[in-house]
Amino acid sequence: MKNVFCIGELLIDFVAEKQGSDLSKANNFTKKAGGAPANVASAIAKLGGKSFFIGCVGKDPFGTFLINTLTEGQVDVSLSQRSDTFTTLAFVSIAEDGERDFVFSRGADKELKYDRRLSKLFKDHIVHFGAATSFLGGYLEEAYSLYLQEAVSNNSFISFDPNFRADLWKGTEAIFVQKCIPFIEKSHLCKFSLEEAQLLSGKENLEEACAFLHKLGSKIITITLGGEGTYLSTPAVKKIIPSIKVSPIDTTGAGDAFIGCLLKQIALTTKLDTLTSGSEPLENMVQQANKAGAITTTNYGAIESLPTQQQLNQL
Ligand code: ATP
Repeated sequence: MKNVFCIGELLIDFVAEKQGSDLSKANNFTKKAGGAPANVASAIAKLGGKSFFIGCVGKDPFGTFLINTLTEGQVDVSLSQRSDTFTTLAFVSIAEDGERDFVFSRGADKELKYDRRLSKLFKDHIVHFGAATSFLGGYLEEAYSLYLQEAVSNNSFISFDPNFRADLWKGTEAIFVQKCIPFIEKSHLCKFSLEEAQLLSGKENLEEACAFLHKLGSKIITITLGGEGTYLSTPAVKKIIPSIKVSPIDTTGAGDAFIGCLLKQIALTTKLDTLTSGSEPLENMVQQANKAGAITTTNYGAIESLPTQQQLNQL
């Protein structure tokens, strides 16, 4: 089985307990481990895969909480770093009008320094780039580009999820798109939401968006469509793989569970070329990954509600 190296941010989400009021009125917050690449690493480990999280947190109690959370979830954090800068914090509330109210206090995640020893570890394994804060500057962005080059030269299977956050890129969306392009060019697998696929391609239509993104380089594209399922696009197949019927409570982390489950299965595949030539194995994998996404929506939080292999088998 291949290792999966997930690079990016690990942070604290302070979620307002009383939803329906904006942050200026919220008094009580629940502390949650957050960060898409960290969620993906957790999803893989919970399904029995071998995942590493590569990111930076502060040497403060919040950093300790985050590292402990991943460690308890069997994620290997030995390649992560701690910094004197405070741990990155995000405060989230859903205001009365249904809009997300969001305050972001960026700290240690940007301090991740490039480590040349990782290059050898990437050889023939899987490297997942889960963008979000990685394009916001700092040492992290520098390390991110270098790790992309290392993954290419070490024959790694490269996976990319841009995790576009509208709150972080208001008015600078075009810069975000530019930063994503080298990753789409070099990735074997890309996971987008519909909004991301449209933003990155400039095309409204799903098929046209995929055609544009394939032309950039990515062979396998998955576009997650919430309750409708996932659009899978490869040279051999273009279709929606329907989702599983559940009663969703909180969709946080569904996308991370989806890509984590897909990568866990790819990690078990010996001949990666066959993924894009035949349609069936990949379709089955996406079907499984849809289940992982669906299960995650049936509970509150991201890491807490990720499925085990047993839960997937039972569904
Ligand atoms: P995130 O906000 O976590 O990044 P995303 O927008 O990337 O999420 P979604 O489309 O919400 O991802 O969900 C990922 C997958 O989870 C979907 O492709 C689907 O298979 C499953 N899923 C999500 N919502 C539901 C739902 N309401 N019912 C059933 N399955 C769902």
